[in-house]
Amino acid sequence: MKQSFYDLNFSDLERVLQQNELNDSAASVLFNWHYKKKENTQCATNIAKAASAFFQHHFDFSLPEIDTVQESNKDRSVKFLFKLKDNHKVETVLIPFHNKYSICISSQVGCAMNCSFCFTGKQGLKRNLTTSEIVGQFLQAWRWLRKNRPGEERILNIVFMGQGEPLHNFDAVKKACEIFLSQHGTSIGIQKITISTAGYIPGLKRWREEIPGVNLALSLHSPVEEKRSELIPINMKYPLDEVLHYIDQIPLHKKQFITYEYILIKEFNDSPEDAKQLGTLLAGKRAYINLIPFNAFPGSQYQCPDADKIAQFKAVLDTFKIPTLIRGTKGDDVLAACGQLNSKIS
Ligand code: SAH
Repeated sequence: MKQSFYDLNFSDLERVLQQNELNDSAASVLFNWHYKKKENTQCATNIAKAASAFFQHHFDFSLPEIDTVQESNKDRSVKFLFKLKDNHKVETVLIPFHNKYSICISSQVGCAMNCSFCFTGKQGLKRNLTTSEIVGQFLQAWRWLRKNRPGEERILNIVFMGQGEPLHNFDAVKKACEIFLSQHGTSIGIQKITISTAGYIPGLKRWREEIPGVNLALSLHSPVEEKRSELIPINMKYPLDEVLHYIDQIPLHKKQFITYEYILIKEFNDSPEDAKQLGTLLAGKRAYINLIPFNAFPGSQYQCPDADKIAQFKAVLDTFKIPTLIRGTKGDDVLAACGQLNSKIS
């Protein structure tokens, strides 16, 4: 099987050109064509004939196929189901913000974390996505916008909050970030990429050296170790206090924060006492809290608290002066909201 062109970051591409005695100036032309102009799924035609023949012969330019598209009637979110070469499926969501979009990308088929509140976790882990399958979600969603919502093909933020645990697939996710960041291609600003983790320490250890500057979101969900372990089983292996220790070592630039995500689950972690403990834990850190009211899915065991309970929780956090946002639910009518992605039943 041919290697995918979209598995190469810029320096890989230069190396391939050099090793094959081709002019390495073609690297920027290729990146420009495929990532900036996002032309099509054939090899760029504006490079020397020898280089173009070489790439056509040795590399695959196809991308994950769009299997189905569901558009939310409520808020214009778009959920894509992609079919991969081995027939596995993953989901990607475009979330509108004025006339720009954030893209929520998947990093694995299924997930090994088995969090009790998450629909994707119910599938177990099937496999890691390759870099090209990660980058391909972005390119295909962008092309879909250009065709179906012309003029709106502006995807300004990338969040790794789709299916999978991105730090459990560190190498492929890192390379995808390098491609997104490359100035020869999509040139996404580093402050526009966020990776969300359940607290997978082997990945956090690599963060500082290998992907400094990328934004980090931690799925915290409870400041109480026993409760957190009930929600996120890997907390038993990588407890919250250790996770926070590694996060605290990540250098932040001036305006950068760590986002702490907190799912609010009725009568489980939504009391003023929970809020107080959360505030105490995060006070003094460069923290931003994202409260996510639990999103139900078929067969889910938890419920979402009432609006006044949510407001009360936030009010307690406000006393700690930690910026806190209650995340609105977008795309829930097409099961595209947080934790509702599960390719099997889509
Ligand atoms: N594995 C990563 C990224 C995927 S989940 C992580 O754990 O962070 C992205 C976000 O959606 C996480 O904060 C996750 O906890 C949240 N989420 C999962 N299921 C949810 C649900 N049913 N309702 C609300 N948020 C959910």
